[in-house]
Amino acid sequence: MNTIIVDMKAGIDEAAMAQAGRILRAGGLVAFPTETVYGLGADALDETASEKIYRAKGRPSDNPLIVHIAAMQDLYRIAAKVPGKAELLAEKFWPGPLTMIFQKQDCVPLKTTGGLETVAVRMPDHPVALALIRAGGGYIAAPSANTSGRPSPTAAKHVAEDMTGKIEMIIDGGSVGIGVESTIVDMSGETPMILRPGYINREMLEAVIGEVGIDPAISGADVTARPKAPGMKYRHYAPKADMLIVEGTEKNVISYINTMVEKELREGRMPGIIASEETKDHYVGGIIKPIGSRMDELSISRHLFGVLREFDEQKVSRIFSEAFDTPVMGQAIMNRLLKAAGHQVLEV
Ligand code: AMP
Ligand code: MG
Repeated sequence: MNTIIVDMKAGIDEAAMAQAGRILRAGGLVAFPTETVYGLGADALDETASEKIYRAKGRPSDNPLIVHIAAMQDLYRIAAKVPGKAELLAEKFWPGPLTMIFQKQDCVPLKTTGGLETVAVRMPDHPVALALIRAGGGYIAAPSANTSGRPSPTAAKHVAEDMTGKIEMIIDGGSVGIGVESTIVDMSGETPMILRPGYINREMLEAVIGEVGIDPAISGADVTARPKAPGMKYRHYAPKADMLIVEGTEKNVISYINTMVEKELREGRMPGIIASEETKDHYVGGIIKPIGSRMDELSISRHLFGVLREFDEQKVSRIFSEAFDTPVMGQAIMNRLLKAAGHQVLEV
């Protein structure tokens, strides 16, 4: 298949957008930018189209897709019960990086929901994404546009690496603003429950609707718990090299990583370091990548997946990363880093 790449970095190209809409309505696949990561879109109400997403990504069929909408009233056609609290959250955070889970209506195929009777819904905050959803019929299933297991794509070139030849179109909207996937909150039970941490954290949700729980499988409280979002149980974001997160005082972290890096270099290998703007000059060797400043959390989240992909290209022997327990997005950032590292953490 020939994959068309369309440039919409400077704004929406109406003719290309109409073509993208036709592709989606005919059951094809279009990758597009959102404010979180790039999505791989298909008509969510067409089970054959949804199936194509699983095939292109190599995604396990029990891992449900998030349905993207562009207008609040469209929610009621796919969600069977919308609690008042969900409407309050939608009013505050949509369009935005929040996904909510509801009982599904019959029109949503089980292929889209990975066999579940619930459906995950989000309204993204990106003009290209919203225009594409409208052009495609209003209901676009879209997981992250990466091959399953690889870091999520935060630029069109990442999508092209994974999807060229497998999908009809990639819309390039430039680099994303947030860089980690949406917060997922299950609204189908008694107490709303966070199933995946993202930019919108527990305090922000609780300020609007009161008590919000957190799935024990992601809070780290219970390492044997089975995550409620099926996708969270799979190996994710894994760079090719073995990765270790080093936690502790700044001084101890730098000194430990430097010792390990020197050892790697002595033995003829080239390790990579995930550093911050504040610490990058204190490392003595290896490939040092400052992912952002601790004073600007979004600079960290935005570069996280891209840096993991760069280390793959540079074929580093090992990756050493600082921990990033930042105040607002710390849980979301550390959730992705821990998965990338296969939960290898060293306290120094
Ligand atoms: P992705 O779009 O690739 O970031 O993945 C979507 C995430 O949403 C996965 O972790 C899914 O398991 C989760 N998800 C989607 N729909 C549901 C649902 N109905 N119930 C629980 N989790 C869901
Ligand atoms: Mg994903």
